[in-house]
Amino acid sequence: MTSDLTRLLAREMAALVRAGETSSRALTEAHLAVAERQNLALNAWLMIDREGALSQADAADAILGEARRAGGAALEALHPLLGIPVGLKDLISVEGGQCTAGSRILAGYRAPYDAHIVERLRRVGAVLLGKTNMDEFAMGSSNEYSAYGPVSNPWDLDTVPGGSSGGSAAAVAAHHVPLALGTDTGGSIRQPAALCGIVGMKPTYGRVSRYGIVAFASSLDQIGPFARDARAAAALLHAIAGRDARDSTSAPVPVPDELLHLPESDDEAVAWLRGRRFGLPREYFVAGMDPDVERRIHESVAFLVDAGAHVEDVSLPHTDYGLAAYYIVAPAEASANLARYDGVRYGHSRRLEGGDFIADYLATRGEGFGAEVKRRIMLGTYALSAGYYDAFYLKAQKVRTLIKRDFDEIFASGIDALVAPTSPSVAFRFGEKTADPVAMYLADACTLPVNMAGLPGVSIPCGLSEGLPVGLQLIGSAWSELLLFRAARAFEGLTAGAAWRGLEPAALTKADHASGLTPAERAAALAAAR
Ligand code: GLN
Repeated sequence: MTSDLTRLLAREMAALVRAGETSSRALTEAHLAVAERQNLALNAWLMIDREGALSQADAADAILGEARRAGGAALEALHPLLGIPVGLKDLISVEGGQCTAGSRILAGYRAPYDAHIVERLRRVGAVLLGKTNMDEFAMGSSNEYSAYGPVSNPWDLDTVPGGSSGGSAAAVAAHHVPLALGTDTGGSIRQPAALCGIVGMKPTYGRVSRYGIVAFASSLDQIGPFARDARAAAALLHAIAGRDARDSTSAPVPVPDELLHLPESDDEAVAWLRGRRFGLPREYFVAGMDPDVERRIHESVAFLVDAGAHVEDVSLPHTDYGLAAYYIVAPAEASANLARYDGVRYGHSRRLEGGDFIADYLATRGEGFGAEVKRRIMLGTYALSAGYYDAFYLKAQKVRTLIKRDFDEIFASGIDALVAPTSPSVAFRFGEKTADPVAMYLADACTLPVNMAGLPGVSIPCGLSEGLPVGLQLIGSAWSELLLFRAARAFEGLTAGAAWRGLEPAALTKADHASGLTPAERAAALAAAR
């Protein structure tokens, strides 16, 4: 094992702290050091909570020490996340802490309570390292729409990490934390996981309580885990999933404990594949897709077939309408959810002379929201307005039903999971898609339908294209997260010997030196971007 604690997998960290060979404090210190050092280059963190994290680490060490003294069963009973650092996307409420959602309009706002998932993480003794950067209100696919400056991809600092949970994905890929949480409304966990070369899962709608999460599009939003391997992501999902009475859409569906016991051995993991049926949806190989990405997906499929799985061509005929329908439904819900930022109740507030409430309201929102958020509010308000509601919103909801039906039919036919690309391209360069909103929207063409249907999907690394990570997406029927993680774990087993598996993100050394800029230059550039 390496002596650098940040290079270990989450379960190796857990084993070391249990054995008393290292402490949660040492683990936390090691991660804080690399996060603080590299954040100037990556801008993955909007807040690093050194003090809070170290005190949580000390609390974890006390529990670990007691369990070690009690021995056997007490040690066994400890949760695998006890004492392990976790990053939180900055739209997750932590009592008394910032929660900007990447927006100027929430600058200075303090969350009055913990989100459900934060309560869960505290209960298992995870260490909350800080809040990660994101596209404003989770709208975007590149993290360039954060009011606090863009995030760099640890594989190439001139490219985007994907979005909107780009800070969480970059932080995990760069070993600032072994685990992080994001939200996925149309792809915002899976797409950045793909672009940063890590594992990211969007659970079934209703699997995780959204209580205490800043809402974007309430019928699509789901919280999910990022990690560098399937087992760690599954353990994190296990910790946060389950019914919460405060979110009426969270479902009373049991969370399988097997999520904590994915196979240790590669052979056992791979054996699970024998006789499984996977579908390869032809519509996911979209026009304009990077041919080298397509090649990686087909190579991955060949691996599955070699291991005894059946892969069949399938069709999801309404896929093409997913993008258009999503960009009606999501902005419509966003326009309603964002109406609460009125400068009166919380967040940024502009008071003009003269006491005209409407003028104050317009000024507050005019200054507080960025261009993409304003675009969505306008689109959504228009789609919901009298006379257009039937033509746009209602029509989009009907299309949504058709998309869901496509998936239902496939899974009813006995297909275990679908295999598809996560993103049509690898990480793109800053500015490449910001001039054309539709080009940016296309980045999620392969992930949006899953949200429209409320299904689970996971992105796992499957190789590189021109030195940048490619993600393989596995999509399952509702509540099939365990099956998806078993498939993901099997794929890890199949590719354990691949040359790309052991590679570190190529730009980490550069990140240590702030991408060629002096710290002052980088700070000035970031300040200008803000
Ligand atoms: N990129 C999509 C959008 O901008 C999805 C974002 C998300 O999943 N939060 O809406």
